Amino acid sequence: MQDNSVNRIARRLSIPLPVGATHRCDVCGKLLSTKLTLKRHKEQQHLQPLNNAVCNLCQKVFRTLNSLNNHRSIYHRRQK
Ligand SMILES: [Zn+2]
Ligand SMILES: [Zn+2]
Repeated sequence: MQDNSVNRIARRLSIPLPVGATHRCDVCGKLLSTKLTLKRHKEQQHLQPLNNAVCNLCQKVFRTLNSLNNHRSIYHRRQK
């Protein structure tokens, strides 16, 4: 993944993380400086549904874990 290679290079060169880069992408681990850039990064880099946001009961794919959980609570309430 390209973000990982950037991180690896930064680590090898002992470049400190940018000050204020405290918003970590929970998908790829990339650090962004603001909530807005994190949001933009996610929209641009992670538009595809998460691999794990798939209902294991009906195989429906969701864009977020939240919507998957929501779906489960609505459609599979009585099933395990
Ligand atoms: Zn990311
Ligand atoms: Zn389902």
